[in-house]
Amino acid sequence: MRISDVEVVLLKKILAKPLVLSRGEVRERRFAFVLVHTDEGITGLGEGVGDPHLIQAMVERRLKPILVGEDPFDVERLWRRMFAGAVYWDLKGALLTAISGVDIALWDLKAKALGVPAYQLLGGASKEKISAYASDLFWDDPAAMAEAAAKSVADGFSVVKTHIGKDPEGDLARARAIRRAIGDQAGFMIDINCHFDRPTALWMGKRFREVNPFWYEEPLPPYDLEGYRELKDRLDLPIAAGENEFTKYGFLELFQRRAVDYAMPDIARIGGLTEAVKVCALAEAFNVPCSPHNFSSGVLLAATLHLMAALPGTDLLEFDVTGTSVYEELFVEPLLVQDGFVSIPHGVGLGVELTEEVRRRYAL
Ligand SMILES: [Mg+2]
Repeated sequence: MRISDVEVVLLKKILAKPLVLSRGEVRERRFAFVLVHTDEGITGLGEGVGDPHLIQAMVERRLKPILVGEDPFDVERLWRRMFAGAVYWDLKGALLTAISGVDIALWDLKAKALGVPAYQLLGGASKEKISAYASDLFWDDPAAMAEAAAKSVADGFSVVKTHIGKDPEGDLARARAIRRAIGDQAGFMIDINCHFDRPTALWMGKRFREVNPFWYEEPLPPYDLEGYRELKDRLDLPIAAGENEFTKYGFLELFQRRAVDYAMPDIARIGGLTEAVKVCALAEAFNVPCSPHNFSSGVLLAATLHLMAALPGTDLLEFDVTGTSVYEELFVEPLLVQDGFVSIPHGVGLGVELTEEVRRRYAL
């Protein structure tokens, strides 16, 4: 079997109400899907998370010429060939998000060709279903956020996440309202989306202590590893980060500098499933729990479910409850979400597809 073509499909979903976070607003969700076609008619589906047009350009101009004519089963060799071009000026960012999309598609393709679910190739099933947290409560007035948090807990999620940090004073009131609404038993993550400087992150972290957060996510920009280390030393709060880090080399530095308590690699950014398995192995060696970042379409959700099914060192799936994504409609078999757990797809490949109808409905 040979790769005959590589195609990028861009979709978007315009939101009725924007998602507000510390650094701005999301008015539409955009997605970049990668389809790897073969001369035997089997196609793999992947996704890159980043600027969709950049991903398209990177795949079409840089990666497709490397891939066409190759054996799609040689995933590791093809990853290295794609990454070889990154060494001089693309070690993080757009090229990696494009490689991620191709790599996820190659795993889907290989599993389909072999007639097995992708988790079988990644290590086999170590879990029946994946424990998840509800993501996300975006910045809003405190009562609306508290009500949404209480709904997620009533729906069976034992952990919820909120995006605050836009208004440090008012955000303590938001955090208190959410804690009151969900009670003492539920977990509650606070995500700042890289918005604070060091003194604000420390000051707000100390004040957030009273609402007992499960973790304090990305209080600082991803390049300030020394700041993360300092916060970890000075705050009695677990720190989570990693969704804006790339490759095993980036995570090695995070771990060696002891910058995080929870690692959050995003499969569609770090370099795909090939790289995710290695990042999770590194996390295991450093004894750091791995909770993959997962806030895009159903394709990334499926890849994340298969990875977490296969790797016992991963825990806490980020599950989008905002209803703003192109999500469960991509699954071939209906996804079961119950009591805070998400079922693992057992069909061949990743268990997702881009139907003509979905392509038409959300065409960018
Ligand atoms: Mg986050």
